Amino acid sequence: MMSSSGVITCKGVVCWGAEEEWKVEEIQVDPPKGSEVRMKMLLASVCHTDVLFSLGFPVPLYPRVLGHEGVGIVEGVGEEVKELKIGDVVIPAFLGECGECENCNSEKTNLCHRHPLSFTGVLPDGTSRMSIRGQTLYHVLSCSTWSEYTVSDANYVVKVDPDVALPHASFLSCGFSTGFGAAWMDSKVESGSSVAVIGLGAVGLGAIEGARVQGATTIIGVDKNGMKKDKGEAFGMTHFINPDDQQSSGNADSKSISEMVKNLTGGVGVDYCFECTGVPDLINQALEATKVGKGKAVVVGEGLHHFVQISVLNLLMGRTLKGTIFGGLKSKTHLPLLFHKSKTKEIQLDELLTHEIKLEDAPKTLEILKQPNCVKILIKI
Ligand SMILES: [Zn+2]
Ligand SMILES: [Zn+2]
Repeated sequence: MMSSSGVITCKGVVCWGAEEEWKVEEIQVDPPKGSEVRMKMLLASVCHTDVLFSLGFPVPLYPRVLGHEGVGIVEGVGEEVKELKIGDVVIPAFLGECGECENCNSEKTNLCHRHPLSFTGVLPDGTSRMSIRGQTLYHVLSCSTWSEYTVSDANYVVKVDPDVALPHASFLSCGFSTGFGAAWMDSKVESGSSVAVIGLGAVGLGAIEGARVQGATTIIGVDKNGMKKDKGEAFGMTHFINPDDQQSSGNADSKSISEMVKNLTGGVGVDYCFECTGVPDLINQALEATKVGKGKAVVVGEGLHHFVQISVLNLLMGRTLKGTIFGGLKSKTHLPLLFHKSKTKEIQLDELLTHEIKLEDAPKTLEILKQPNCVKILIKI
């Protein structure tokens, strides 16, 4: 490898189009500009949203380097970077935090005005630091982590406590934290309350953990994959609903998810329902599964559908529907708190890991994701 001032040629996972197989290719990564850092990635992990990005969510940008979960070490810094230095262990997050704008000063949101979530596929200055055979490569969000090297704006990069296990740091960089934060920070689930979580991937398991930490006493997990029952229980789920079990039992009047949730809660529904799949109909089910008058449904997962029809009657009955990005977590303020919780084992992260692969094997990810026991794939770089 060359010095931190030159262009680096290294391996990265490139997606050329929605129908194309992902390829591990030799790419070029430019040195960091003024407020940027270049990182040598150590570990990355797979989040479901990577599949959506490869399919063109929310706008098709190709070719692009996939991945938005991961942990690395700072290899080079631009001249304006003050808080980070070469050798720091870091997460290239996708939400920045200036600490000064209206939203950074608000307890209600993590969506910084100055360093926003970006779907443009380029860094804040409007250009990419990655290319292949002279052609521009788009980033994923503000990073792209399935690559030996990547560049991000330092305002999005979070320093990691070196005592945190690196796989844990990678898992905390998106999926798990998104679910955990939704219950813990965004909704601040009240002690003794009832919670339902639809979709028990890493995001849903994080929401269960967040509800447990907050003291929820009823935590209902919903998933069509029966293997998620044990996982859900490991994180604190108290009841499990497999909608397919109901249907396959030959029951003629098969119930909706909201009805099944109500059956488990004395007919009234739950205080909070976290929808982690992004499936349009399930967003309505989440809303309807909450209590009349005060229930709150939180959209945490995203899907390929941009528009969803919502039952106005369900809203009129005093329910709240809201959405959250990254579980309402402010990257620089709250991720260090999660690092601490992982060190003290207040939150469980080992249970998430089901598969470990090398960067060269990243194209096999789609096959691995189909395995019913798959929760989290760790990519060794
Ligand atoms: Zn801000
Ligand atoms: Zn993600």
